[in-house]
Amino acid sequence: VDALLSRADAQQDLGCYLHLDADGARAAADAADARRASGDKAPLLGVPIAHKDIFVTTAHPTTAGSKILAGYRSPFDATVVANMAAAGVVSLGKLNCDEFAMGSANENSAYGPVRNPWDRSRVPGGSSGGSAAAVAARLLPGSTGTDTGGSIRQPASFTGITGIKPTYGRCSRYGMIAFASSLDQAGPMARSAEDCALLLQAMAGFDERDATSLQQPTPDFVAEMKAVRPGATAEQPLKGLRIGLPAEFFPAALDADVNAAVREGLAALERLGATLVPVSLPRTELAIPVYYIIAPAEASSNLSRFDGVRYGHRAESPKDLLDLYQRTRTEAFGAEVQRRILIGTYVLSHGYYDAYYLQAQKLRRMIADDFQQAFQHCDLIAGPVAPTVAWKLGEQGDDPVKAYLADIFTLPGSLAGLPGMSVPVGTGAHGLPVGLQLLGNYFQEGQLLHTAHALQ
Ligand code: GLN
Repeated sequence: VDALLSRADAQQDLGCYLHLDADGARAAADAADARRASGDKAPLLGVPIAHKDIFVTTAHPTTAGSKILAGYRSPFDATVVANMAAAGVVSLGKLNCDEFAMGSANENSAYGPVRNPWDRSRVPGGSSGGSAAAVAARLLPGSTGTDTGGSIRQPASFTGITGIKPTYGRCSRYGMIAFASSLDQAGPMARSAEDCALLLQAMAGFDERDATSLQQPTPDFVAEMKAVRPGATAEQPLKGLRIGLPAEFFPAALDADVNAAVREGLAALERLGATLVPVSLPRTELAIPVYYIIAPAEASSNLSRFDGVRYGHRAESPKDLLDLYQRTRTEAFGAEVQRRILIGTYVLSHGYYDAYYLQAQKLRRMIADDFQQAFQHCDLIAGPVAPTVAWKLGEQGDDPVKAYLADIFTLPGSLAGLPGMSVPVGTGAHGLPVGLQLLGNYFQEGQLLHTAHALQ
């Protein structure tokens, strides 16, 4: 913990931490030592991590990257936070993220950007940018993130680390500040599939306080990761595994560096015994408009609770209640959050609901069905995580649509609720990391971790 604290101090320019509590971390480490001395065999006893600042915590303030929650202290811990504490982790603090997890570059945080440790003029991806950069810069061995439309996979790809978004419902959303409730899912970010498996084991589990939590026993992810496939050999641990390549995930416009690194990763999987089979996800492009209707719709509803009455920021000397609401929200929500509240309110409003929200829901079902068609021909699906490598800070200017379009390969799996991973597969000609995306069918995290582990 001392070593990591001084490393974090030396790398403050990365902007990873929103709250770092050195004394608290040392006290937590001492408490872990005491637990160990008393014979406690908790699986992650003493392992230092930090949480994305979207999980509410009693030990540290929680802001969700927003001014509206500046200085907010939760009276309870998120279930994921409590589960990990029970497993023995030592939490150092809270990690920077896009405001309410809306973004793909961590440029929407009210507390400043995070820099990519591979090239400090570039973004780390988002919205879990602090979680990714902290692991990539070796400030931490692992961290928590959340993925609504790619926010674990894409920053993992941009920073050359491993991340897994489990099946929707695997980790409790209780105490995870809601962005789009039907999509939000927590997961770990770490250096390897093995570390992700250990962390996910501690995070996951049924929680009666989350109505969409899976009522299923949590499998032994490490055992599934290490399990020997029937017919596998020492040289070919993936023998018999069919990996589907959706044609739509390899468009002509795909960045050459990304294409080359992903193809190398796929060739490595073939050498390990896997067979590559062509599949189709015909509605891939539609995932963008569908997601950017459904996610803002849910966000507009979820964020209505930030009204200046109950939490955080409150406008000064309001004239009346409406003035209080209006000025509080205008002053303390950033531009992207306001944009999404407006879009969400619009698509849900009478007269437009059928044209936008209802159509989007129908297409969401069709996108999920397309995956089931594809999984008739393969065990898992592979492709790029993002169409490009990490871009320069500020490069996208004021055009939010550019960032939305870059989510094309992560959104389909999110809309379907499927588990997905990003596994580093090298650096392109620019020397920037590229991640390979692996998508599995429901509850197939073990197979994803197994495949990623074989590759690593
Ligand atoms: N980039 C997507 C968005 O801005 C996904 C974010 C996320 O997964 N939290 O909504």
